Amino acid sequence: MARLSLLIDVTKCSGCHNCFLACRDEYYDNDYSPYSAPQPLDGQFWMQVKEVERGSYPKPKLDYIPTPCMQCEKAPCIAVAADDAVYRRKDGIVLIDPQKSKGQRAIVNSCPYRVVFWNAALEIPQKCTLCAHRLDEGAKEPRCVEACPTGALVFGDLDDPKSDIAKLAAASKTETLHPEYNASPTVKYVGIPKRFIVGEVVRRDVPGECAQGIKVTLEGGGLKLETRSDGYGDFEFEGLEKNTDYRVGIELEGYASMIVEVYTQTDVDLGEIVLEPFK
Ligand code: SF4
Ligand code: SF4
Repeated sequence: MARLSLLIDVTKCSGCHNCFLACRDEYYDNDYSPYSAPQPLDGQFWMQVKEVERGSYPKPKLDYIPTPCMQCEKAPCIAVAADDAVYRRKDGIVLIDPQKSKGQRAIVNSCPYRVVFWNAALEIPQKCTLCAHRLDEGAKEPRCVEACPTGALVFGDLDDPKSDIAKLAAASKTETLHPEYNASPTVKYVGIPKRFIVGEVVRRDVPGECAQGIKVTLEGGGLKLETRSDGYGDFEFEGLEKNTDYRVGIELEGYASMIVEVYTQTDVDLGEIVLEPFK
């Protein structure tokens, strides 16, 4: 047995969409039956690059989450398909049979990740195949992985401890998208965007001058972190949990310390925090 899959490092994704375009180039109007039928011109996003906006002006952030089929181990698409129209191969790849799946629109609706698309002309559901047709001919990786210029996509066998993907997964803090779907996706992620807290430190007695190198601490959610304000007086804590209480502390000798209580229902910009000098 094997588990061929992807490890996606969101922190390395630039949003260039090369992976999406390579996928379109591979599948548009190309028939790889019995792996996949030709992809139509519109409405198919087998490798979707989702944009995630966080925060707000003047400190917004934009992240990109490449989202292919998650190659689930408890795949709802397999469970719902009649006549074994969706199946898992011995290497872990989940495929939709283009012939057996004809007319089975329920397969589209069964996928909680919304990565199955309806081909209206052929009346079949379609999705990412991890380029199984190419792998079976000896290709080392799917087209999307080949096309990624930043190394954000890593392909391989998670069950082979010598593979790059297994080594990376062991060395990184990996997560899955939407574990609450309970589908056991094998596609792993690093750096899924979470909450952040930002702010700017200013000293009352030196207006107009950036407060660089000020110690800022954060406590809460089992974390104890420390950072320093940068050349603009700005500081940032990333990767924080949602809906959690945190305490941000700012300390500088000769100034009154500041403590700010923060709840991360949203990303938080504390704005200007003014340090008052001792008289
Ligand atoms: S992500 Fe959707 S289509 Fe892919 S295996 Fe899971 S349920 Fe099936
Ligand atoms: S090709 Fe790589 S960097 Fe570009 S959008 Fe896809 S995953 Fe991100």
